[in-house]
Formats: sequence, structure tokens, C-alpha cells
Amino acid sequence: MKNKIIYADNAATTAMSEVAVAAMMPYLKQVYGNPSSLHSVGQAAKEALDNARAIIAKCLNCDAKEIYFTSGGSESDNQAIRSAAINGAKKGKKHIVTTAFEHHAVLHTLKKLEKEGFEVTYLDVHENGIVTAEEVAAAIRPDTALVTVMYANNEVGTIQPVKEIGAACRERGVVFHTDAVQAVGHVPVDVKAENIDMLSLSAHKFHGPKGVGALYCRRGVPLAVLVEGGAQERGKRAGTENIAGAVAMAAALENACENMQKNSSKLLALRERLIDGLLKIPHSKLNGDRARRLPNNVNICFEGTEGESLLLHLDAAGICASSGSACTTASLEPSHVLLALGLPHEIAHGSLRLTLSPENTEEEIDYIIKTVPDAVDKVRKVSSFWDDLTSGKIRHFI
Ligand SMILES: *Cc1c(COP(=O)(O)O)cnc(C)c1O
Repeated sequence: MKNKIIYADNAATTAMSEVAVAAMMPYLKQVYGNPSSLHSVGQAAKEALDNARAIIAKCLNCDAKEIYFTSGGSESDNQAIRSAAINGAKKGKKHIVTTAFEHHAVLHTLKKLEKEGFEVTYLDVHENGIVTAEEVAAAIRPDTALVTVMYANNEVGTIQPVKEIGAACRERGVVFHTDAVQAVGHVPVDVKAENIDMLSLSAHKFHGPKGVGALYCRRGVPLAVLVEGGAQERGKRAGTENIAGAVAMAAALENACENMQKNSSKLLALRERLIDGLLKIPHSKLNGDRARRLPNNVNICFEGTEGESLLLHLDAAGICASSGSACTTASLEPSHVLLALGLPHEIAHGSLRLTLSPENTEEEIDYIIKTVPDAVDKVRKVSSFWDDLTSGKIRHFI
């Protein structure tokens, strides 16, 4: 086991599936045309793009015309939120409802909009990492232009009651966007049945390539242009299309959806084994609801540890994990997600996120279960906070 690397950071990004790589190859060198060209090479590329769009639409249960290709989840989030804001402002609606534990692609866009005169309500989530549809509904006002609530959280993996939130928005005539980057390809997503107006997805989170994603925008919901230029994507997103990326994304998503049941039952077994194993460590706690979470997500706090140090010890032992979200590891601020769940700062620092893929094995899980306690011990040994806890100077939180 020593020289083998165990990758357990699939919420950060995934390896491309074989089917996605194979689907992509012909579009790198043979079918390299520009879909806007009228000749045969261009038209072959256009056909591939249309086909990819149809596959993605089928997986989400929408029309192909409702899918817009983008550069990934961040761009889709930006375009969806900006669109609803611009359109709302035209009608004098400048209020937006969201949660405090969204991805930064959402939160930073909203912060910008606040500076531009919008008012944003950030709903707290419960300790289980879930916001209720009733809470969202209660926050909607006559001047609400948009509700944006993520489908599944990227740190704690908790799944939100999207269908009910969508129904509450539909009833009140408010546009509902969901950042489903962690959900698509992992749990069943149906934009029609779940009353979703706009949805963001990203290929590299479901074993497709990086730098390509899509935005679903329901027919009739206005979409604003963020990238000006040519008339690609029905005039809503300029730039020569990433054909190879779109084709690979479609192949990855189709593959993920076809194998979803098989994969999630395997992942569930691995996840439960890992949670049981790690919770044997004293003063540890699972973050987020145990059942209503992504089948591949484990997020645990170890009191008296510091996430970054834990990661270094695990990396040295060949385990790739994450503390909170990859976007925040560079800063020493604790995760905004764990703080939104109501965890005190001291504990929010000491969290470990392990996100699995169907490639992981039971043997790997057992190696992680065997290795983490040592890493936790090492970090606690040099922690003055842990000293204070064990000496009784500070009371244990967990
Ligand atoms: C990864 C992620 C994003 C950003 O997607 P990119 O394709 O990397 O831009 C947005 N939201 C969530 C929930 C994510 O997990």
C-alpha cells in the first residue's frame, strides 16, 4: 500500500472516466472544425456539439435548447445569478435569497451585486447542513428577483430539499437557480420534476474534463450575456465552442447516470464503513446529516486538530484528502460552511473531508481508517488547544 496514492478528494475534482477520454479523442485532431464554418469539417463539429447537448438534456430531463455550454460551474453560477439580477432590476426587484453555505462562485457574485445595490438574505442552515423550504419561502418578498440554493453542499455533502424549494419559488413567481455542481452525475436530478429554472453543472466533478460545464435555463427565463462576441450558444455565450470538452462531458454524464445506482450503492457501503471507522477516534463528530448527504462524502471534525496539519500527515501517508473546501485551504480562516452549520471556530478548523469515487476500494478505506488516528494523535500532541482541553482548562465541545 505504501507507494500507492489513495485519492479521496473527488469533490475537488475527479479523474476522467475511460469513456470520456475515448469520446474526446476524435475531436482533438480529426474532427477539429469550427461549428460556425459551413464546410464539412465545421459541420461535423456542429453535429457533435448538437449531439452532446441532446445527451446532457436527456440526463437532466429538459430540452436541448435549454442547455448552454460554459467554461464550468463558476461561469454557470455567475451567468445564472447575474441574469436573474439584471432581469429583476428591470422590474424594480432587487432582493435575492440564498444560504450562507453556498460555493464562493455564488457568494462572491452576490457580494458584488450587494455593492451594486442589491439586497441579499443569507439563510443560516441547520446543524444538519440543511435549509428547509419553509425557511426559504418565508424569506421571499414581493421584490425578490431570485432564490439561489445549492443542490448538494461541496464540503459536507448535504442534499437540500430542492423540489420543495422550487415549488415555493414557482408558486411565488420567483426565479429559482440551483448550483448542482456536486449533485449532477451523483444523485438523480430532474429539472422538470424539481421545479428548477436554472441549474449549474461542471464536467470535472463527474469524471469529465476540466474547463467545461453547462447552464440549464428553462425556456422563457431570460438569460443575460456575460461574454460578448459571436452568436454561439444561441447568442448567449460567445466564443468558439469547446467541442472536445462538450462531447467528453456528455459521455461522462451519460456514463455516470447509467451507472448511478450501481455506483451509489458501492459508495454508500464505503462511506458508512469509513464514517464508522473514523468516529471511533475520541472527540470526533460527523458534520452534516448522515443520511441526507452525497453517497461519497465524509466530513469529520477532530477536536484539538488543525485541518491543514492533518492533511500534511495524510499526504505523507499517501492519502489525498481535503480540509473543508479546496478554495479556502490557502487561507487560515475556518470554513464558512462549517461556521454556517453553527460549529465554533476552534472545531471548524479541525475538519477533514474525504470524498470517494467508485474507483476506491474497501482495502483503501481500511487503510484510511488505520492511518487517520495516527495523524490525529500527531497533530494533537503539538496542539496547545488540545492540552487545554485535556487538562480541563477548556471544556470539550464534542
Ligand atoms: C466545483 C464547484 C464549483 C465550481 O465549478 P468549476 O467548474 O470548478 O468552476 C461551483 N459550485 C460547486 C458546488 C462546486 O463544487
